Amino acid sequence: MDRVTLLNEAIEACRSLHARGLLAAGDGNVSVRLDRETLAITPRGVSKARLQSHDFALLSLDGTVLSGDPSSERAMHLAVYRAVPEAKAVVHAHPPTAIAWTLARPELTELPSDSLPEVILAAGRIPVVPMAIPGTEAMGTALLPFLPAHRLLILARHGGLCWGESIREAAGGLERLEQVAEILWKAETLGGAKPLGTEALKLLQNLRANIGPSII
Ligand SMILES: [Zn+2]
Repeated sequence: MDRVTLLNEAIEACRSLHARGLLAAGDGNVSVRLDRETLAITPRGVSKARLQSHDFALLSLDGTVLSGDPSSERAMHLAVYRAVPEAKAVVHAHPPTAIAWTLARPELTELPSDSLPEVILAAGRIPVVPMAIPGTEAMGTALLPFLPAHRLLILARHGGLCWGESIREAAGGLERLEQVAEILWKAETLGGAKPLGTEALKLLQNLRANIGPSII
């Protein structure tokens, strides 16, 4: 895919995530791998609703800024692309309900989603990455224990992150995350999600294994 198409897809993803309320003000960042050693990433502080292709910054995998003013959260993107050669896009947003789970339940190591076939089929499990201070290198290193096994992650007290083999996969993962976090929250308010039967759970896990690692 050529650079213009990749950046247009990234812009479309940014607008869609903003329209869905997953990015307030200048929140969040989206990147795409242009070639083995180079990525394009959204700039610092620009609303994703108004983003244009000339706003993207270019970075080399060693972190050198080639052009523009890259997001201060770039350490997460660099960590993914360095650790996972097949990663072609990374999307980070601030999905409100997913974040709320980590504020209210700091003991959770994953979204408690075993009752919801949608999560099992679309992502397997959705782990919670321990909190790192925004803008620091620790944001990247905190992700490493979860790579490459997990593509869709909740960042404790901060947001969500999804990497994929396309921008659509990565952006779709963030939409999925907020959708399922909201379903599970509503189930909590109605008395708590009841577990699936062991048979059904096993069947769903087998189906997921056949789907492969992609987020759907
Ligand atoms: Zn953030």
